Amino acid sequence: MSITDVLSVDIALRRGQDRTNELYLYSHLSGDRIQGVATVCSHYDLQIDGIEISFIGEERTTVQTGRTHRQFQEIKYLIADSYFPPGNLFKEREQYQFEFTFEVPDHLSPDACNHTTTSPMIRLAHLRPPPSFGDPSVSGLGGKLTDDYAPPTCKILYSIQVALFRNIPVIVKRDVLLVKRMKLRVKPAVDEKPPLDLLNSMNDYCLQADHVVLDGRSKEELGQLSVTLQPPKSFRLPLRDSHNLVSSTVNLVLRYHSTGDQPDLPQLQSFRGQLIATTFYTTTFHDDVPSKKKDFFGRPKNYSETQFPPFSYSIASLEWMADENHGYVASLPVPVTLPRLNLIPSFHTCLVSRVYALDLRLVVPGAPPFHLTTPVHIYAERDPSALPSYIASVGFDS
Ligand SMILES: [Zn+2]
Repeated sequence: MSITDVLSVDIALRRGQDRTNELYLYSHLSGDRIQGVATVCSHYDLQIDGIEISFIGEERTTVQTGRTHRQFQEIKYLIADSYFPPGNLFKEREQYQFEFTFEVPDHLSPDACNHTTTSPMIRLAHLRPPPSFGDPSVSGLGGKLTDDYAPPTCKILYSIQVALFRNIPVIVKRDVLLVKRMKLRVKPAVDEKPPLDLLNSMNDYCLQADHVVLDGRSKEELGQLSVTLQPPKSFRLPLRDSHNLVSSTVNLVLRYHSTGDQPDLPQLQSFRGQLIATTFYTTTFHDDVPSKKKDFFGRPKNYSETQFPPFSYSIASLEWMADENHGYVASLPVPVTLPRLNLIPSFHTCLVSRVYALDLRLVVPGAPPFHLTTPVHIYAERDPSALPSYIASVGFDS
């Protein structure tokens, strides 16, 4: 007979003022109070000397050569003896309830990241709590479970853990009787400004392309076209998994220098865009902003990409203006709307980074396609009613 045949622990979360038991999966945001009850019940009279309740955050990564696990958060406390039955004796088939409250912190404990870094900004980014990632049993929007496009090599999990102990008096040790865990979904706030200068890893992006434009028939050079992309403002994910559309604007600046006397100003034939999510992972640590590495055969080594459905734009015509250098300039603001999917905000931990890029492909007759890629920051709005906290407060909810 195992201990689970004799002893059971049930963990239930509560939320909101009405204290109704939660019926669906809920996204816990920064500053949210996670309130719940652990119910202990034994089939026989049983002595239990300690109950520890913890709010745990951990991450796992797998690479070809191995795997690693790291706990980045463990906020825990012991239930005070005064809440225990006399003599710590839990009576047969009686239910004992212990309430708990945790707050989703804004910052991890400073010892959560203690490896070398190339910049203090890396460490600051690693000390922000990451969102739940890659666990299909909790990933989703509101009460719905939906894919979060994490690669199978990465998992970030949060759970409430209840551990029951019994004292072993002779050797002054505690024996773990039973450990029960309940997973939950955490979606911490992410700042509007990227924590790291994503442009550091410029190798993975391309903000400018220049091509010669040729005459379609004679193949004579008509001019030189340069397209520059200004990275878009950060995309803001609304609070509480709202299904509102999330948009921002990308600005393109086109410059054209005509080679001949008669400027025949170029126009766009087609314009397509695509959002790409890149997840970097390692089993050691990221001491810098990660950048893409490939193996001998050109396959991704330290990252995984998800390409979201492409979208296209119809641009009526470019409005060219003469500039002071005897050339022409046109600017093109392009609205970009994120797909209505479970997009996890950009984040960085010691082992995992999730970043986004926007790929744009412009076709101009007579020139090779202009292919541009810009980093895109997706942040998660902070609930203004939740005060930022540096250390999560724990204790009884009396
Ligand atoms: Zn770190």
